[in-house]
Amino acid sequence: MEFSSSRVKLKTGDRPQLYPHSLQFYLEPPTENISLVEFESLAIDRLKLLKAVENLGVSYARSTETYKTKLEAELRKLKFPYRALAEGDYEARRKDHISHFILRLAYCQSEDLRRWFLQQEMDLLRYRFNQLTPSLMQKFLEYVNLSFEAVSEDLKNELAEELCASTPGFSMIKVKEQTFYKVGLADAVDLFRARRVFIKEGFAYVPLKDIDAIVLNSYRAKLSKALAVTARSLPAIQSDERLQPLLKHLSHAYVGPDYSVQKSTGKISLEDIDALSVRSFPLCMRQLHRALRDSHHLRHGGRMQYGLFLKGIGLTLEQALDFWKREFIRGKVDADKFDKGYAYSIRHSYGREGRRTDYTPYSCMKIIMSNPPSQGDYHGCPFRHCDSELLRQKLQAYKVPPAGITQILELVKGMHYQLACQKYFELTHEVDDVGFSLNHPNQYFTESQRLLSGAREGKKEPSNLGSSQQKSVSQESKNVSSAPTPSSTAAAAELEGLEAYFTED
Ligand code: SF4
Repeated sequence: MEFSSSRVKLKTGDRPQLYPHSLQFYLEPPTENISLVEFESLAIDRLKLLKAVENLGVSYARSTETYKTKLEAELRKLKFPYRALAEGDYEARRKDHISHFILRLAYCQSEDLRRWFLQQEMDLLRYRFNQLTPSLMQKFLEYVNLSFEAVSEDLKNELAEELCASTPGFSMIKVKEQTFYKVGLADAVDLFRARRVFIKEGFAYVPLKDIDAIVLNSYRAKLSKALAVTARSLPAIQSDERLQPLLKHLSHAYVGPDYSVQKSTGKISLEDIDALSVRSFPLCMRQLHRALRDSHHLRHGGRMQYGLFLKGIGLTLEQALDFWKREFIRGKVDADKFDKGYAYSIRHSYGREGRRTDYTPYSCMKIIMSNPPSQGDYHGCPFRHCDSELLRQKLQAYKVPPAGITQILELVKGMHYQLACQKYFELTHEVDDVGFSLNHPNQYFTESQRLLSGAREGKKEPSNLGSSQQKSVSQESKNVSSAPTPSSTAAAAELEGLEAYFTED
């Protein structure tokens, strides 16, 4: 793939040969020139698609109609191929091809990224392969050199009883209807291990409906190898100063609104923060807030992550200076030292010092993927960076019900950190469906506020968790002296609505 400011157009007649199938194993990298603008936009669309694949895969069984309908809607919306070999979908196929290779470059950079990318790409291929008609499946298998010998009708009739007994969910009628293929054992290892297939003389007799397991095996092997090869060529790619920031951005990409532009600037009172931290902060920020209140200090990584989040929820520069100073001088930092040292970096993060960059609050991907916390740090994403026992204890302390903790830990085990966070949102806000795809701590906050203020429907009937959370508010807030001020009185009135939400009938 080459990158330039102009794009070479293919002759219209060449197009069908380039993508004879809507589905592919992405074996050949694209060779046309594309602009950097298109490079980024294709990559972001695929990232949106893979995020949707991840979300849907955790929310619904992959075989359900809801999963299929929702995934097709995403493919349509983002203009990726969504129906097998539809005529005239050259642009969609091209987008599919090029965007896969761009994200491959961005997501080969670490083990975590590779694993996530591989998983989502596999789920996407599984869905798309299963949408093919039997004859298109056959064509695709030939296209990717996985053409297996179809079992003749005579042989199938002869083996009908064995096929029926060895293939779960198959009746004699279904055996008669379905085409079976003779597949070498090496290709059918997963089916063989799961005892889901009839074996005879070194061959597995695989029904068409189970061929997807074989296709996915083959795809996984090819893509894993390709990611490892791409990772080895990274130093050369990273020396390209146009690509390096783009790829880095993509692997930490956040594809939602820009939270550096705050609509709510100045609407938050400092006295509200303790209560808000319990009700509306995601776990990462709740943890930072608690650590700050307890030790009256945060190290650089924590100050950046938390400070920018607070800026994103609407703290003005003056409020931020006041907030951090009040807390730090309760610890080992005196007012003079604060003004000379820490105040500068706060003004800097608001774009008032140095290069005057108005820094953006960190997205989940950035927090999850970069700068892992070490001993004494409180930044990072607890779902990614805490060990599971510590995470369990934190969740217990925040009164998350045991069944919910188990669900969250399962998601964490599968490396679905943002989905674990969404589950935490559902449990602490008592909603059945989070109703959004979480990408950003400030998005978590905004959605929480929307829900708690009644601007969003979907809250369940109050239960014990509600009162537990309420107790946690007073627990976590008890060390903070906050004599009522005019603004805090107004804020208290505003918060009354929230209090009512957590109060048991
Ligand atoms: S998933 Fe995002 S919002 Fe949630 S705890 Fe992790 S970094 Fe924070």
